[in-house]
Formats: sequence, C-alpha cells, structure tokens
Amino acid sequence: MSRISQTLQPSGNVVAETETKKKGGKMDNVKIGLEIHIPIKTKQKLFCDCPTNYYEISEPNISICPVCTGMPGIKPHPINSKGLESVIMLAKLLNCKINPKIFIKRKHYNYPDLPSGYQRTSEPIGVDGNLGAVGIWEVHIEEDPGKYDLNYKRVNYNRSGTVLAEIVSAPDMHSPEEARNFLKEVINLVKYTNRTVDIGGVMRADVNVSIEGGAKVEIKNVNSQKGIVKALKYEILRQKNLKNVGSEAKMETRGYDEGQMITVSMRTKETEDDYRYVPDPDIPPVYLKEISEKIVLPETPRSRKKRLISEYVLRDDYADILVRNKEIADIFEDIVSKNKTLSEISSSWICREVMRQLNYRDIEWSDEKNKLNKKILSDLFVLLANNSITENTGKKILERVIDSGELPGEIVKKENLMIECDDDVLEKVVNEVIEKNQKAFNDYKAGNKSSMNFLVGQIMKGTRGKADNKKVREILDRKLGSI
Ligand SMILES: [Zn+2]
Repeated sequence: MSRISQTLQPSGNVVAETETKKKGGKMDNVKIGLEIHIPIKTKQKLFCDCPTNYYEISEPNISICPVCTGMPGIKPHPINSKGLESVIMLAKLLNCKINPKIFIKRKHYNYPDLPSGYQRTSEPIGVDGNLGAVGIWEVHIEEDPGKYDLNYKRVNYNRSGTVLAEIVSAPDMHSPEEARNFLKEVINLVKYTNRTVDIGGVMRADVNVSIEGGAKVEIKNVNSQKGIVKALKYEILRQKNLKNVGSEAKMETRGYDEGQMITVSMRTKETEDDYRYVPDPDIPPVYLKEISEKIVLPETPRSRKKRLISEYVLRDDYADILVRNKEIADIFEDIVSKNKTLSEISSSWICREVMRQLNYRDIEWSDEKNKLNKKILSDLFVLLANNSITENTGKKILERVIDSGELPGEIVKKENLMIECDDDVLEKVVNEVIEKNQKAFNDYKAGNKSSMNFLVGQIMKGTRGKADNKKVREILDRKLGSI
C-alpha cells in the first residue's frame, strides 16, 4: 500500500486517492515543518524573579510582578542564565552551530495574554542543525505569554515570562506520520536533558504544511502527538481538494479544532514585517560562546543505547526501543540495576508485551490511561523470572493491570494463579483429559503432532492456564511410552 493511501485512508477521500495514484503514490509533494515549544525548567522567570510553578497552582495571577505583567517603565532583570544554558544545551544536542552573540528582540502582537504588547524572543541561539534526516533551522529562547481563557474572557499571568525554547525544523517531513515520529523523537531527546518542565506529555507545536509548491499554511497550537497527525491529514486533504476544483490554498494561519478534527482559518499569515521586530533596548547583547564551551552534554538516546547493550547484554533492537522512550528506559534500568538476572525478561517483556498493549490502546507510555509503573512491572518480572506464573498468566495479568494499576503479586495470590508444578495434580488432569479425548491421544500416539498441541491445550484449560508447559509435555510423553 502506498504511503499516501495509507495515511489518508480514514477519511476515505476518493479524489485525493485517485490523484495520488496518478503521481505514483508518493507524498514527496507534501512539505511539513514544525515549530516546537519546549517549557524549560528554571526556578525564576526569564527576566524577573517570579516563581515558575504555574502548572502546579490553580490560583490565577499570584506568581507575577511588574516585569512579567509589562508595567510601563519597568526594566527587565538580566537574562536567566540557567535557562539560557539549557537552551544552548538543547541546540547543541540538535547539532546546531551556536552563535557567539545574540540580541533579544521584541516581537509585537496584540493579544490579551501578552500584557506589554510584545513578546521577548531571542535571535537564533543555534542554527543549521539536524535530528536524523530532518534539518533544524534554528533554536531560540523566548518568554512564554500568559494564558487567556476565551470562554470566560479571563487572563492569568502566572505563566507570563517563563522560559521557552523554540525549535524550528526545516520542512523536511512528507507525511503526517513522519511529523509525528519527528515530534516524538524531539520530545524524547529533550527529556534526556532533564531541564524541561514535564507537564504530562502536553506540548505546543505549530505545524506548517504546503503541497506541490503552493502557499505555506500554518496550523497553530496543535497540542498532542495524535492531534498533529489528525490536523495534518485534514489540512492536506483540504489543500488537495482546493487544487482539484482549480483553486489554491492561501498563505494563512489556521487553528486546529480538536473536537471537530478540522482546521479553521484564524487570520492571513503575519509576515516578519507584521511583528515589527526590534532589538529590546532594555537588554544588553548576550554572549554565548563561553557558556556554550562549558556545557557538559548529557547522555543521549544514542549513547545510552551503547551503554545499555554493554552493561546489560541487551539485544540491539530492544535497546533501540528502550532508549526511544526515556521513562521506559529509566524504569528498565531501575529494575535491572538492582538485579541483573532480570535483564532478559524485563527487556523482552517491555519491548514486546508492554509495547503491544500500549499500541493496541493507541496510547503513549506517558498517557494517563496507562497505569503501569516501575513497581507493577518489577513485580510482574520477578514472578516470571522465578517461574511463579506461566507466560500466559503473565500476559493476562499485564493486559489487566495496564488499565487497573493492580499489583500482579496480589492478583496471583488472590486468584491462586501460581504455576501448577505439583506432579500429582498435573497427572490427575492429564488422565482426565486423555480419558475424554481418546481419539486425539491415539492420533498423537500415531505421530500426529497437532494432536499433541490439542491435548496440551485441553490440559492448560483444565488447570486454568497455570500448568507448566514443559512438565505437561513430559507427562504426556511418559504416558505414550507406558501404554
Ligand atoms: Zn515577574
């Protein structure tokens, strides 16, 4: 199946699909770029000393001062050096060249979340980087605006002036899935710095997309990885359909309506001129070279992969899956560093069974619907490693606890799911099954292998899946010899 018909299938748009087939099923005519906003963890805001815990407090407008509410005549403090360092670190991890000196600019626009009428945003800190096949145009630092509640027409400035990194990618992605994967990779890489605010997987990205060299349309504030795919699918179709009726998409900014899964026009796109950028006269130029040289880069997914393989004798593909999700890799290491014998079971169960369950539910590890945690997983892996439960029981338990958050050990105790190794008990079940299935047993004696599987299946059923598979086969073989 071609890439485009796969990605556009849910909407079932006939026009788009026929058109694609004509073009050989390639989606190279679609260009997607992302601007990703990353909240950086600092104690104080970018240009004042206010606390930055806006995401933990419900009372509005208590972490504010004249600077971050844009009072006339008030002067900003010097730039937050820790925040600056974190953004330089991020730019270096994205293989950017670091500019030696930058100015802070004022970007003007009018919206209630911006009390001064301009946002302070830096010139590029890093340029010309890349993450895999996707180019990074620039990384810069800026202050986050406040939050404006459209329904109640209320504004909350607790967030105003907190530190944001903005990553601007080249339009190097050609499908919604590529955009989602890139975003996932950026978010994961960013977590390796330990310098960002973890607000439950919430991120803000602006997506721009153009087809066949047409106008670039920007979609603002797409707030989830799934949202990006849906917004892009809709927008690509919309632009294609415009072309089909002889019209064209125009350069504009659109918003994504998550409820209706459509994009809606917000305004024709601002150009650089509309923002009337000027260097902020209250802030001296910022020198980056010395800070940049002193930065010690953290472990990255790539370097961690190498280390995991050598430290825990991991399979290459498993190590790859683990490091692509920092939280999961952390849990794996936590469990295994205390007990290296759990390495094989932990890695294969996480990379196969846990991933399968997450994919089946179409959720990420960080999704609040996922109730798994370190305690639950290590409990399960120990049960499996000690041969206390069968693989089958393990799978059933995993399927249940991912939604319920129960401890596997407690379920096993409460429901008596321990593996059945007692020879007498097993022998009794085997005899019963043979008695009820004489024909299958005779076939098995005659060398029919599928009869063996049938018998084992019946015995498993008789022990509620708790029988030790190896033992059952041993007993059956013994019966075969003795009769
Ligand atoms: Zn302040």
